[in-house]
Amino acid sequence: HGSGDEVGKLVETFNEMLAELDDAYRSLDRSNQQLRQFLADCSHELRAPLARIRSTVDVLGRLDEPAEHDDAAFRSQALADVAADTDRMARMVRQLLILARADAGATIDLRPIALADVIGTACRQAARMANGVKLLPPATEPLTGVMVRGDADHLEQALLILLDNAFKYTPPPGEVRVATQRDGTHARIDVTDTGLGIPPEDRDKIFERFFRGRNATAATGTGLGLAIASWIASQHGGTVELHGTQGEGSCFTLRLPIATVSGSPHTFGHAG
Ligand code: ADP
Repeated sequence: HGSGDEVGKLVETFNEMLAELDDAYRSLDRSNQQLRQFLADCSHELRAPLARIRSTVDVLGRLDEPAEHDDAAFRSQALADVAADTDRMARMVRQLLILARADAGATIDLRPIALADVIGTACRQAARMANGVKLLPPATEPLTGVMVRGDADHLEQALLILLDNAFKYTPPPGEVRVATQRDGTHARIDVTDTGLGIPPEDRDKIFERFFRGRNATAATGTGLGLAIASWIASQHGGTVELHGTQGEGSCFTLRLPIATVSGSPHTFGHAG
């Protein structure tokens, strides 16, 4: 039957993804305590949604055919739950693979790119997440002609993590503002929101893998976003930092070294 096939396919996809994750770690030194902890955390985090999917699939499999009216309603709710769990797992496994590859020494290929274009693309994508919260896009003039040595997809991903968080942790009617500036040899992108803010005791921990703040339990998330954004920034010779105050929203800053500024006699670092 159609829905059963779909669920079966989803579970199969996950098993493949988990196998890839497992492979990534098998190739590493298994005695490394930090990696073992990471792998233990991964399986812990993945087990709950996988168990829910498993039991829902079992229940769906026992429903009589043809479906009663009540069964149809139950079936569609059950499938919606499975879809939500699988989306969450798919996201988590994709994020875990990025971190697993980073641990295995993966690097990002860097080439000269126009930073304003990357920010424009990320903001256009982020506008779709803005559910009742206003997105104030940046004035890109400060970055006109600014080239960084980077990878557009990865930089977009890092910005989308910051933007996604800003929207997730800002209840409507709030604001998310993106601002850009040149800061000597670096380009600076600030993502500022008017949301929940981050309590002082959590500030040291938010970049850790799997850390989720107490303010975050209502929103869906994995606790991996900021760890990935930091890795991407560091691959570009840059940083992601928090400047925020509790109850007054948060401000995250992505800083990247400028490679060249076209139309300007000043150049920094390698032109590429
Ligand atoms: P996730 O958002 O999936 O939980 P992240 O690694 O992206 O994971 O963020 C870690 C934690 O940092 C979040 O759980 C949340 O507590 C806090 N956080 C991140 N961004 C914001 C923000 N803009 N406003 C408030 N809290 C935030």
